[in-house]
Amino acid sequence: MSREITMALAGNPNAGKTTLFNAITGARQHVGNYPGVTVEKKEGFYELKGHRLTIVDLPGTYSLTAYSVEEVVARDYLVKERPQVVINIVDAANLERNLYLTCQFFEMGLPMVIALNMVDVAKDRGITIDTAKLSALLGVPVVPIVARTATGIDALMEVALQTALSGTVRASESISYGEDVDDALLEMEERISAAGLLAELYPTRWLGIKLLEGDRQIIDQAKGADQAVTEALLGKVDAVSDHLQQTMETVPEAIIADHRYGYIKSIVRQGVLTHQFDENRLYTSDKIDKVLTNRFFGPLIMVGVLMALYHFTFTYSEVPIGWVRSFFDLLARGADQVMADGPLKSMLISGVIHGVGGVLGFVPLIMFMFFGLAFLEDSGYLARVAFMLDRVFRIFGLHGNSVMAYIVSGGIAGGCAVPGVMATRTLRSHRERMATLLTAPFMNCGAKLPVLAMLIGTFFAEYQAQFMLFTTLLAWITALLVAKFLRLTILKGESTPFVMELPPYRFPTFKGLMIHTWEKTWRYIQKAGTVILGVSILLWVLMTYPGLPESRVREFEAERQAVLAQAPEAAALKERLNTIDRRQAELTLENSMAGRIGKGLTVVSWLPGFDWRTNIALVGGFAAKEVIVTTLGTAYSLGALDPEASGSLAKTLASDPHWTPLLSLGLIVFIMFYSPCMVTVSCIIKEAGSWRWGLFSVLFNTTFAYLLATLVYRVGGLFLR
Ligand code: GDP
Ligand code: MG
Repeated sequence: MSREITMALAGNPNAGKTTLFNAITGARQHVGNYPGVTVEKKEGFYELKGHRLTIVDLPGTYSLTAYSVEEVVARDYLVKERPQVVINIVDAANLERNLYLTCQFFEMGLPMVIALNMVDVAKDRGITIDTAKLSALLGVPVVPIVARTATGIDALMEVALQTALSGTVRASESISYGEDVDDALLEMEERISAAGLLAELYPTRWLGIKLLEGDRQIIDQAKGADQAVTEALLGKVDAVSDHLQQTMETVPEAIIADHRYGYIKSIVRQGVLTHQFDENRLYTSDKIDKVLTNRFFGPLIMVGVLMALYHFTFTYSEVPIGWVRSFFDLLARGADQVMADGPLKSMLISGVIHGVGGVLGFVPLIMFMFFGLAFLEDSGYLARVAFMLDRVFRIFGLHGNSVMAYIVSGGIAGGCAVPGVMATRTLRSHRERMATLLTAPFMNCGAKLPVLAMLIGTFFAEYQAQFMLFTTLLAWITALLVAKFLRLTILKGESTPFVMELPPYRFPTFKGLMIHTWEKTWRYIQKAGTVILGVSILLWVLMTYPGLPESRVREFEAERQAVLAQAPEAAALKERLNTIDRRQAELTLENSMAGRIGKGLTVVSWLPGFDWRTNIALVGGFAAKEVIVTTLGTAYSLGALDPEASGSLAKTLASDPHWTPLLSLGLIVFIMFYSPCMVTVSCIIKEAGSWRWGLFSVLFNTTFAYLLATLVYRVGGLFLR
């Protein structure tokens, strides 16, 4: 008979969980996700012997405490959903460290199979693991696999299915935590089962351990279920704690952790693991690290790597960008000829084709950036960047883990603050986390890139790569300073000790790079087809209606008739008619809702020198930063007086006397730091747990950007004059 069987895939970060998940289910996973779902949950399917297996990929964690959201999600899933079997993926090359999490699964009392991954890497390092012995000592099946080449997957799934069907829980005795804790735990277990405390949710022993560990989430939950019993249990915990404090000057949590490690050590030392080489020998990775994370050379190399990335991107993306642009120009011209004049045509060309095409035009740039970034990430270099920056980040009241959130948000190039804000979940201190998620949107996300690239290309064409590096550094420095400010004021307090894992270097596979690049690029394209399309149409409506009063339209018509009546020669006629068209379009824009908003905003925007057209684009940018460049394009093409320049926004701006490099620098700064886009703000609200933080980020960032842009434009103006 066939049954629905659920298997949970769990393990440390970097143990190869995603690779195994893909190898089993064949499904590609999505990295990072959009609001609506708090934590990404991936599911895949597998058929075996008539059984339909659902594989759930849990977040990677080192532990199952309640310190990070990932850990809480993973353990909540395991206790509440009770999968028939846990496939615990363990990195053979880091056996001892990985087994720490395994111990905690044992405590939960779930049927389990160990997938011993990366046996190839272990072998390269001269490590041999006796899987039969390991299995016997741990009391659970152990199947060696190489997830990367899908080796051993069939055997693993067979064993997992058997375990799930039989429901066999680990055979060996429980781990001992030393006499004091063991005695207390036994006593607590009795009381817990007598009272039936949270019996439907947790195994009694696990509950006892969590109370001893001082797990806040569980303590609160237990109190909610039965205040009296919980108080009694906590009294017991206090007694052990006092005793341990007096005898060993330590707390139960530390004792429990020590004994888990001790248990692992004893198993591994019983001939399970043999080293062929001298254990102190430096692995290739360590040798590379000696150079790449060197105190002096490390940062220099890092800057060099970034320069190379930008250079690579700008050099190679230029030609394909041209192709995409020509394609959309052709489309627009086609529509222009085929369709009859009217609002529908205008909406299709200005709203849809220019709006979406303008965004898609940057796909090649984004793709090259993503490719370079995927290379750095997959090779393990980005982890080194985080490692090196940890020391610097501490000075600013942040954490090495904040580095990843910044990078995901676009800290190197072309990220997105939405997954960036979510990436802050790995931060354990609430205040560090808040400071990180409020400053992550300062990074140059993929949506800001096009407009930055356009402005830089127009006003600082000779130094594109250098300028890109400058904006990147500026983003980091500003984010750090603001974080420091927040940590000294509204987010004053605690910081956490940092343990950073350095994964070994790996040469990325071409396939892996392509998949990563494509996933991210595809998400950008999808956004262009949905959010951006909607926003573009909305902006078109705002920029078109209510239109000019009837009488004004008739006046323009009369002007045209007058020109026609004079019957000048063909070229002059066309030019004069064009001028009238432009004036009419210009007036229509000024009179439109967007035009009025833009003009109204000049009350404040004259200080940093932004005109009303720019204001329209910036307001649109709050909906989605991608539309800034296309909206500017529309706003300027409508009013351009020089018909020759109307084709390209860059040319229009370059020939406009109002647009100086200084003004554009101020605008660059403003765009970099003003309010995060709508989606990011909603994500901040969700992650921070209060709409106030969302509002704060909108107001604070916009004010801050405004002051900075004004400073650049006004003070810069003093020096340049
Ligand atoms: P996760 O963090 O647990 O999801 O780990 P990933 O699946 O992303 O894997 C981390 C890295 O290890 C990737 O670069 C994989 O290609 C690599 N990897 C995974 N399994 C193996 C394996 O069995 N052998 C080798 N050599 N590399 C592997
Ligand atoms: Mg993964």
